Amino acid sequence: MSDLLSVFLRLLLLFKSVAPVTFRHHRYDDLVRTLYKVHNECPHITRVYSIGRSVKGRHLYVLEFSDHPGIHEPLEPEVKYVGNMHGDEVLGRELLLQLSEFLCEQSRSLNQRVVRLLQDTRIHILPSMNPDGYELAAAQGSNRSEFGDRLVGRNNAHEVDLNRNFPDLNTYIYYNEKNGGPNHHLPLPDNWKSQVEPETQAVIQWIRSINFVLSANLHGGAVVANYPYDKSLEHRFRGFRSTNTPTPDDKLFQKLAKIYSYAHGWMHRGWNCGDYFPDGITNGASWYSLSKGMQDFNYLHTNCFEITLELSCNKFPPQEELQREWLGNREALIQFLEQVHHGIKGMVLDENYNVLAGAVISVEGINHDVTSGDHGDYFRLLLPGTYTVTATVPGFDPETVTVTVGPAEPTLVNFQLQRSIPQAPTVRRTPSGGQGGRVKVQSPAARKDAAEMRETKRLQRGPG
Ligand SMILES: [Zn+2]
Repeated sequence: MSDLLSVFLRLLLLFKSVAPVTFRHHRYDDLVRTLYKVHNECPHITRVYSIGRSVKGRHLYVLEFSDHPGIHEPLEPEVKYVGNMHGDEVLGRELLLQLSEFLCEQSRSLNQRVVRLLQDTRIHILPSMNPDGYELAAAQGSNRSEFGDRLVGRNNAHEVDLNRNFPDLNTYIYYNEKNGGPNHHLPLPDNWKSQVEPETQAVIQWIRSINFVLSANLHGGAVVANYPYDKSLEHRFRGFRSTNTPTPDDKLFQKLAKIYSYAHGWMHRGWNCGDYFPDGITNGASWYSLSKGMQDFNYLHTNCFEITLELSCNKFPPQEELQREWLGNREALIQFLEQVHHGIKGMVLDENYNVLAGAVISVEGINHDVTSGDHGDYFRLLLPGTYTVTATVPGFDPETVTVTVGPAEPTLVNFQLQRSIPQAPTVRRTPSGGQGGRVKVQSPAARKDAAEMRETKRLQRGPG
């Protein structure tokens, strides 16, 4: 009897551990159902929201994972994944749905690595940036030969390639790098909304409204991790010209790309789809130059560091290959998210512990600044090393500290700036502020942080 019972229990456990995960292609309705299914299974750590609509009116749904969905907690970084920007490149879309189910399941079964990730990180997943293109590609599906084997659906419903549709800020940064001028948060052209597609506009408004730190954009047609810049510095010749065009954060971007390629089942081997990329990574422009791409825009207009992941030779892999692809990408998708917890982060406050939004954080030797968000917190990804870091806010005396970054968790570096003139300075308004530019520290985390600040500053400065 007890033997029978134990066999039965073991069978139960076995079934539980191999609970069916459905590896199939998801059309739009199926995708929406899946996002809400994950939300219903994990209501306390997820939220579904839409950032806008496609040309044909389909929602661009995001699934958010966080221990406090819908809320930015100071010092907790924001990360995103974007899939299916090219409608016919469908693996990213399916991997992001698998990842969503995985994060939910693993958090429910108390996988400590996932629980910790969700406690420390706010993760935003946009499985499809181009749902209209996808529907065309999926309708073609197995009848591909009728279409001469050429996949349809790369572009949006206006036949525009969304990864050539962002405002071109590279021209300005290349000029500024040579002649001086702002090295971050380059402004949008005045009439930018009339120049971009609805999907692009939705993404631009999204990345302006959330202070993202790290991102990846999932594509197909090759297997390589591609990092900025995508647009070649030298473009004297029309058409194809490849010139390695590094950002001031080149070493960091290479590291981020390698994290993905080496955690991936085979990307790091370099030989894939008839191409060879050492370590499975490449500078975008040195592969082929493209203008108005999304990763360059993220870097030049926001605080977000984005790379582009090419994940499969076959842009529309058959259903039977999805499980193998998921197993090849799962660890890489998780490890990449964990990279947001490196470098330095902290609060920027005034002498009365009011948060200072829009403070410029500069690292000596790296010609690319980042800024603090609306809650006064900033995040600066850095490789291990010793850095001289300065916080600057108009009307306040800048403050400079020397800080050592280790290989593991980020170093906390808070700034408390003193007013340089007696009259109230111009400080960027915060949305929650209402009546004034400066906002009292509200959250418990920020309050706790303010209390720790004096101690941290003392330690940073050393004795005397
Ligand atoms: Zn693509």
